[in-house]
Amino acid sequence: MNTNRIYQLLLMLLIVMVYGCSDKPKGKEQVDEISYTITISDSNPKIANVEVAFVPKDSLLYMGLGANQLENRWATFVHNLKVTDQKGKLLTVDKLTDAQWKIHLQSNQKIKLSYSVHLDHENYKWSGGIDGAAYATNLGVFYTTRALLIFNGDEWQNITIDFNLPKKWQVTTPWHKKNNHVYTFQVDTFSNLANAMVFAGIHEEITIKRDDFELIFALGDEGVISKKQEFQSLAEGVLDYYIKLMGGLPKPPKDNPFNKSIVVMSSSENTDGEAIGNHISVLIGKNGGQLSETISRFIFAHEFFHLWNGKSFSPVNDETEWLKEGFTNYYTLKALRNVNYLNDESSLNFLSSFFYEKYVGDEGVGKLSMTNGEEKHDHWGLIYAGGMFVGMAQDILIRNNTENEKSLDDLMRFLYQKYGGTNANYTLKEIRDKLTELTGKNQSVFFDTYVNGSNKIPLEKYLNQIALQAKVKEKTLTITKKESATEQDQNILNGILGVGL
Ligand SMILES: [Zn+2]
Repeated sequence: MNTNRIYQLLLMLLIVMVYGCSDKPKGKEQVDEISYTITISDSNPKIANVEVAFVPKDSLLYMGLGANQLENRWATFVHNLKVTDQKGKLLTVDKLTDAQWKIHLQSNQKIKLSYSVHLDHENYKWSGGIDGAAYATNLGVFYTTRALLIFNGDEWQNITIDFNLPKKWQVTTPWHKKNNHVYTFQVDTFSNLANAMVFAGIHEEITIKRDDFELIFALGDEGVISKKQEFQSLAEGVLDYYIKLMGGLPKPPKDNPFNKSIVVMSSSENTDGEAIGNHISVLIGKNGGQLSETISRFIFAHEFFHLWNGKSFSPVNDETEWLKEGFTNYYTLKALRNVNYLNDESSLNFLSSFFYEKYVGDEGVGKLSMTNGEEKHDHWGLIYAGGMFVGMAQDILIRNNTENEKSLDDLMRFLYQKYGGTNANYTLKEIRDKLTELTGKNQSVFFDTYVNGSNKIPLEKYLNQIALQAKVKEKTLTITKKESATEQDQNILNGILGVGL
């Protein structure tokens, strides 16, 4: 090889290196970067000013799902929307329906979007409750990101969120602090941006860590803060019960990971709760008495169990929604007994006065099959309570048939181990077959009658097979403990109620 040829090769190599090292990454960074700045000021905390800087992926701006009862959906609360180019020149924006806007772009350049969101959400009716929208308390403001942020495209490599807040305010978010800044966050996926919630104010936080999983509570007002100790020990107890039961931390699909969940709690007229993404918003009814208090703890523990049953493993279609919701109800009731928030009597009382009442009061019971999962919001009793009773009945059958060696917990662990961390889903048939295996008896008739079929589940019949006496009179279920029980019967009852594990 002559010297010229070597020089030629070196030159080519140099060009590749220069081109490859400096030019390409720079271009990519610019295109795949979006940063939000959210400013809330002391003078009017019920206005959030938002600025977004990015190179648009396309000409559409939009907000997240929800607020369908309003003509302009989330855009009802958006004011003064402006888009400017790099030189500060105003660009034309067309307002479309459905909380969308179209921007007129000349070239592929970085633009700045600015707008304010007025926190007037409490002046409107929300079928799912204000807990899934936005509200203010004496101590701060709560926003779901779908109510606050305007999006463009749905794939971003670099998402940054910056908060400018009044002095002494802090902010609870599901994201990671960027370079340890208190008010700057790095969001790892678009889904973690769009399905999130934040609380900013002088509220208080509880942080609970297990390995690399973090659960953060934002306590949004004085009423909730006065119960901080109780919430902390309840949450730790419930978390540990679920980890022990399942055999590990939540394991969502690898392409949609999370290791931080937030729970926002505030007081309200009525008890309500909503899960968005991996996060939970709970409102605790102020004047609802003991039942309302129990329900608010129940809502938290229910949504929390979905990090396993629903996020780590889920059914292939709506046909098995009764397991996702109903077994979650069952394990939530067990969790509240496990941590001694409930005792045997109050647990059985909650079962009959809340779940059984919802079940017999549901017009779908006796007419519809619980495999109609798409009906779950109209038929809570049939699907959430009915699914729970399927879980209880099967748990009783498994424990009675295996001398309490096996239980429904084995089905949960099986699903967690098989499907955790994957995108695969379980089927109704697989559940029936696994329950046949665990009970040691063919469960086809049970499924044909109570799951695929529309017959009312005789819960009292199953409860009477353990150390309980149950009867139904005029649609009311009463349950008492049998006066004497063998040690084995007591162990089975403990297993069903959630005492120990
Ligand atoms: Zn649920």
